[in-house]
Amino acid sequence: MDIVQIAAEFAPIAKVGGLGDVLLGLSRELISKRETVCILLPKYDCLDVDKIEHLEVQMHDLPSYFNGEWHHNTIWKGIVEGVPVRLIESHDPQGFFERQKIYGCPDDISRFTYFSRVALEYLLRINHFPDILHLHDWHVSLIPILLKTLYASTPLNSAKTVLTLHNLAYQGHCKSYDLLQIGLNLKELPSPSHLQDAHYPDSINLLKGGIEVADHVTTVSPTYAKEVLTADGGNGLENVLKKHLKKFSGVLNGIDYHYWNPETDPHLPYHYSIVHLSKYSSRTPYLKEKEQLKSHLRRMFSLKEEDCPLVSCVTRLVHQKGPELIKYALLKTLEKGGQFVLIGSASDEKTHAEFYNLKRKLAESKHVHIELAYNESLSHLVYGASDLFLVPSLFEPCGLTQMIAMRYGTVPLVRETGGLADTVFEKKNGFTFKAPTAEQILPVLDRALHTWYNAPEEWNSLMLNSMKEDFSWSKPAAEYLKLYKQLRLSSLPA
Ligand code: ADP
Repeated sequence: MDIVQIAAEFAPIAKVGGLGDVLLGLSRELISKRETVCILLPKYDCLDVDKIEHLEVQMHDLPSYFNGEWHHNTIWKGIVEGVPVRLIESHDPQGFFERQKIYGCPDDISRFTYFSRVALEYLLRINHFPDILHLHDWHVSLIPILLKTLYASTPLNSAKTVLTLHNLAYQGHCKSYDLLQIGLNLKELPSPSHLQDAHYPDSINLLKGGIEVADHVTTVSPTYAKEVLTADGGNGLENVLKKHLKKFSGVLNGIDYHYWNPETDPHLPYHYSIVHLSKYSSRTPYLKEKEQLKSHLRRMFSLKEEDCPLVSCVTRLVHQKGPELIKYALLKTLEKGGQFVLIGSASDEKTHAEFYNLKRKLAESKHVHIELAYNESLSHLVYGASDLFLVPSLFEPCGLTQMIAMRYGTVPLVRETGGLADTVFEKKNGFTFKAPTAEQILPVLDRALHTWYNAPEEWNSLMLNSMKEDFSWSKPAAEYLKLYKQLRLSSLPA
């Protein structure tokens, strides 16, 4: 199979959250199954270029249309963690990819519709006509429509499209004028209603357009695939998804088991694996190296060295992740004699200020550390050093942090929603609660801390079961491959 993946993120060079991880993990697994994979990504000025091997210009002067003019693009090629990547550097006057960030610009719609079109121009120019175009989220969900319109008479149109929905909270709302800017006239489309938002008919909904037209639509966990068919979980897209049930499925994400591996992780000063854990049956030490990591982290942040559990959370601090519950659980953990480390990146100033004030208020405490930033390296250490990992999301399409925590022997405490409900189970590998309220999280947090203090054997078995889970990409990649093959078969002449 020849698969081209197009997305706005790709870990580790352009990562905001789980989307970047998925692109890396899925691609690496497909490559290990001997499939041909290539990633197309904007060449943001904030890319971590040090992590790109053999970076060189592949093509100068690739023109792409925007706002009545053709702009030049330079295409770069390189390899990231074994995955071939093509980077589109745009020379448009607005500097679309020169913003020192990946998302969050007022003209994100223009930036990513431009990228969608230039990605197709590039494939066309190099005569690369893949079997599958795997597209991710609203940023590139216009591509199936571009293939059926502006590129309908090109050989690119033979590619089958798979659109993966990583989070229905972001849909790419815009106006028909925004489409015109990249040369797509809504009035000339065969079915303009495909792009029409279900609730605001004057508004364009890029994600909805992709769902209507892509050959197959997936989302990132079986439970989220059910939730999005309801008014509560569908964010207004439930009816469109119900209409397309035959081409819609949920495939649970994996995590990259080479990148997230406590046995070899270069960010960890001490290494361990499940083999080490099974040697011990009593609590002290559960896992000597994990205890050493805990001490290491405590020294780093001047936390007190004492016999108490270390609870952690690594997250974007946005509404979806339940920031109020995170704050509540943090304070309750301290009240109950535990320690807490939070690494949280807030994109809005209000949330940042709220957590900054909390950090200041607790500045003297020897039991808490709050890091208000995105910090990849520190996140590895926190996954390794903690006992309990908190994910109290209001909704969670899949969630990778609970899986990473489990891989590192850190027991998760999660809300039963989306992919969290597909991966964490009471009494087996973690602690769960149903409604995202203080009343519901408190007894579960109590139970978890009580188990840590008083039932070391039970805790040990939760750790063991967590580490035994297989959240690698092996199974999900096989599911995607089966899907790609079915799609390709369906396009062959009978
Ligand atoms: P989402 O994509 O909604 O943010 P996921 O759980 O799917 O949530 O993926 C989150 C990914 O981003 C994980 O790899 C996690 O370690 C990482 N991450 C999130 N916030 C931070 C942060 N503040 N610092 C470092 N890594 C983070």
